[in-house]
Amino acid sequence: MQFPSQNLFSALRAAFPQDLDQTAVFASTPDGAPLNYSWRDLERASACIANLLVSLQLPEGSRIAVQVEKSVEALLLYLATLRVGCIFLPLNTAYQKAEIEYFIGDAQPAVVVCSPEHFGWVSKIAFKAGTRNVFTLGQDRGGSLLERAAHCSDQHLPVVRGKDDLACILYTSGTTGRSKGAMLSHGNLLSNALVLQDYWGWQKDDVLVHALPIYHAHGLFVGVHGALINGSPMLWFNKFDPRATIAAMPRATVFMGVPTLYVRMLAESALTREAAAHMRLFISGSAPLLVDTFAAWQQRTGHTILERYGMSETAMLCSNPYRADARYAGQNERRGGTVGFPLPGTDLRVVDDAGQMLPAGEIGNIQVRGPNVFQGYWHMPEKTAQEFAAGGWFKTGDVGQQDARGYVTIVGRSKDLIISGGFNVYPAEIESFINELPGVMESAVVGVPHADFGEVGVAIIVPRAGATPDAEAIIAKLRGQLAHFKVPKRCFIAAELPRNSMGKVQKNLLREQYQGLFLKA
Ligand code: AMP
Repeated sequence: MQFPSQNLFSALRAAFPQDLDQTAVFASTPDGAPLNYSWRDLERASACIANLLVSLQLPEGSRIAVQVEKSVEALLLYLATLRVGCIFLPLNTAYQKAEIEYFIGDAQPAVVVCSPEHFGWVSKIAFKAGTRNVFTLGQDRGGSLLERAAHCSDQHLPVVRGKDDLACILYTSGTTGRSKGAMLSHGNLLSNALVLQDYWGWQKDDVLVHALPIYHAHGLFVGVHGALINGSPMLWFNKFDPRATIAAMPRATVFMGVPTLYVRMLAESALTREAAAHMRLFISGSAPLLVDTFAAWQQRTGHTILERYGMSETAMLCSNPYRADARYAGQNERRGGTVGFPLPGTDLRVVDDAGQMLPAGEIGNIQVRGPNVFQGYWHMPEKTAQEFAAGGWFKTGDVGQQDARGYVTIVGRSKDLIISGGFNVYPAEIESFINELPGVMESAVVGVPHADFGEVGVAIIVPRAGATPDAEAIIAKLRGQLAHFKVPKRCFIAAELPRNSMGKVQKNLLREQYQGLFLKA
């Protein structure tokens, strides 16, 4: 499809249905009363906010930093930012003072929008960093942003943008070192949205359950762009609630979630084949989906979860197939434990540490290139250069393999790799063995310093409900199955694994917790 401008908003707007009075977003007030937004509402209310931004006479390329609770109005602010050609910079609502200070200092936003409750300390940080405009936006539609926007015209012509012009900066979660701002262009995001629309077979009558945060690529790009580029309405939840999501399924067709959301829904007896009968597609990503969860979901609902893989720097990269399609001959099986195939237009290769291509099935570093790959890290040209290999290949930092049929499996982050006595140990391999043992629900293996071996593995194990697995017995069992150097030296039983809001296990916290285990005092 050709668009007069590469402005992502213009592309999304072109996909709105003809009848703008249809409902685009089915939401609710904080008290639970229904609150619906038509396509016309999205068009006009985002125009009002866009005109407010225009009135501020912001310099070209201004960043709009936003740390607010999820709401439809926060989505309107995103659309408004795209309309005026500014750069949207969403911030996780969990970030505290020191983090906000870093992000605002680093990104130098022209506008900061925060929750009314945080105005005091956020505005102080922002004004000190030179930001001239600080607005508030509450989950209840209160705050100065909408008060000011209400006085602005609801007509606005989106500015023309080229495909390489920046649309968003996403700060990576940065579990090691400083968080980096990944710069994504209108072209990056639009190309990914169009590829996914086709690959996942979006249909005219699709309805998306949107229950993810919108400060992250998953909820903002995959979710919001996915629905809007298809002119599909969303059932909008400001917070994920397993029961409410299951109850919404008869009115919806597509759900996107991180693995934890699937686990939480499986714990509900209301999740049945009948409850999910109207759904067309369940998609999982952002963290590995346990094969157990994949199988349990299949058994309970009759649906096979489609797992995909992506990252802030690249949007989506790989996906299990949606359907048997002549264009993707042979790619019709969704395989648990894999992230499927590189998406059309994305090149993917697995290389060794010297950058040499590895044969199918061998584990190595995953590199990618394509129209979805970002423009670099904000204000970090050297770091950006380091992260690209010759030929425009981006080093994802993920370790994995691609089998002879093309299925990609992620083994972990390269920084999580354990080098024990000179041997490489891939935590995911050990975790998959542990997870198969009786009484084990899930596990995490991390490397900790060791005086003789440099590093050794430590396993943290979460038991199944009612089970009491024995740590020593688990280690003994692994000794019979794995090479000696791969067997964790210690095993701990824990009630749960630390996870961030996107369901990723925070291995850095586990490493910190156990780092002194083998060091002499
Ligand atoms: P983020 O930039 O926060 O979206 O994190 C991206 C990282 O999440 C990737 O580099 C992977 O390490 C991980 N990730 C995303 N999707 C998957 C998946 N389906 N399976 C395993 N890891 C994943």
